[in-house]
Amino acid sequence: IGMATTAKYSAMPRLANAQINILLIPIAFGLAATGETFATILGMLLITFLKVMKDTACRIQDDTIAAREQAAKAEYMASYDQLTGLANRRQFEEALSAWLKASDFISILYLDLDGFKDVNDAHGHPVGDELLVQVAGRLKAVADPEDSLVSRFGGDEFVILTRSDAVKLANKCLEAFKTPFDLSAATLLIEASIGINSSAMSKDPVELLKNGDIALYSAKKIKHAAYAVFDSAMAEDVERKLLFQGRLRRAIANNEITLHYQPIIDLKSGEIVSAEALARWTDDVLGVVQPDIFIAATEDMGLIDELGGQLLSKACLAAVGWDEHLRVAVNVSPLQFRNPKRLIEDIKKALALSRLPGCRLCIEITEGTMIDDFKGVSATMEEIRALGVTLALDDFGSGYCSLAYLNRIPFDKIKIDRSMMTAAIESKPQQIVIEMVTRIANELDAQVVVEGVENQAEVFKMLSLGVHQAQGYLFGRPAGANDARYRMRQAGKPLQVA
Ligand code: C2E
Ligand code: CA
Ligand code: CA
Repeated sequence: IGMATTAKYSAMPRLANAQINILLIPIAFGLAATGETFATILGMLLITFLKVMKDTACRIQDDTIAAREQAAKAEYMASYDQLTGLANRRQFEEALSAWLKASDFISILYLDLDGFKDVNDAHGHPVGDELLVQVAGRLKAVADPEDSLVSRFGGDEFVILTRSDAVKLANKCLEAFKTPFDLSAATLLIEASIGINSSAMSKDPVELLKNGDIALYSAKKIKHAAYAVFDSAMAEDVERKLLFQGRLRRAIANNEITLHYQPIIDLKSGEIVSAEALARWTDDVLGVVQPDIFIAATEDMGLIDELGGQLLSKACLAAVGWDEHLRVAVNVSPLQFRNPKRLIEDIKKALALSRLPGCRLCIEITEGTMIDDFKGVSATMEEIRALGVTLALDDFGSGYCSLAYLNRIPFDKIKIDRSMMTAAIESKPQQIVIEMVTRIANELDAQVVVEGVENQAEVFKMLSLGVHQAQGYLFGRPAGANDARYRMRQAGKPLQVA
């Protein structure tokens, strides 16, 4: 830009300066050549004056050029993305407002890359930058500059403003991602998702962009490498989600999520041996929300450590009021193991606050907990066991169902999932698996609990396979902490918990 501006701005004043000089120099020399003292002095003064005038003019001119160059550079920086040379957000927004005023129909394509963070994490930011530059090149190649403006908003967010057919353009963009990117560190096939919105839905630039982003979010949810055209149902989905998250955040902050307890009985004696704590939430606006739903949302919102800590304390405070032989089982999310320090602290705090002996608390974890970081998770489990707390493997038979974990982690309980139990009623192979698990458990001094028992036939079948304990509607649905089944020692003195 600098050179172009210099060339453009320097030629004219320098020419004018030269013209004046050429005109005045012969007069000055003519005067000096007359030989008359006064005329000679005047001529010399004129030459000196000319030189000073020329120098001053040049200096002013150079300063003006420098100032203009700087202004042009600043203008460029303010309107273009430094990395890719595409229009930046500011230029895009200015163009969007102008096009909205000038055209009947315009569309925006909100595009981002699938898994861009992984590229940065795996190969470093310079390679990520290389990818962004190549993406910019491909997008520019498919969008006709006559009727489209390609911009980068930052990160891997690209937005195209177009007067042409947006769906056609989206297909062309997706097509452009079908060839792998040749980067210095690797050749990578990267996909992109696109959200489309148009001035038919809104003439307000802010809303147009916001809803384009919502359409992008929707496209990503459906499948990778796809586009989605915004419709009002998408906005309602987002509104609902925001309302839900707001209510949930508030419920957690106000400690409003409660626990119900479902008895677990010993199949031989028929006695209750423990109870599983199950989270419950009834919201004033949303009504009863199922735990699977709000636990998953809490995980998404990054609040599971907070809620998990609250529930551990509530469960221990409830259990300390029960008969002394009764244990309480608390579900712990796999995500809580990503922050082991906090988890151990929360368990210690819950035990100290309630004065519940560690051996009366059981932590239920699912197989999924151990998949990502087996070493780290087993070390945390060792720490939990060191507090005297027992461990149960939850939902066995619902997922990967790896028998290997049974030998590698000292579980005190294995909970057979309801789906496996009901399948075993008819299927011999499933019965063999359950039988095998009970045999391994006997070797390891662990107990096998079957979940979701609803009828007597299931009880008989499970007893015949050697299962030790059972839980299910047949024995009792989840109920409040003060349920008579737990024969509270402080009868008549309801606890201020759950
Ligand atoms: P889960 O840990 O497998 O809990 C057992 C689920 O089976 C409970 O559902 C329980 O009500 C249900 N159930 C018990 N007996 C029967 C039966 O006889 N038949 C049938 N059909 N179902 C039975 P719930 O309370 O809806 O909890 C669902 C899941 O939500 C739990 O599955 C657990 O994964 C999660 N969850 C619940 N509370 C917590 C919690 O405090 N923390 C965490 N991290 N997860 C929780
Ligand atoms: Ca459980
Ligand atoms: Ca379970």
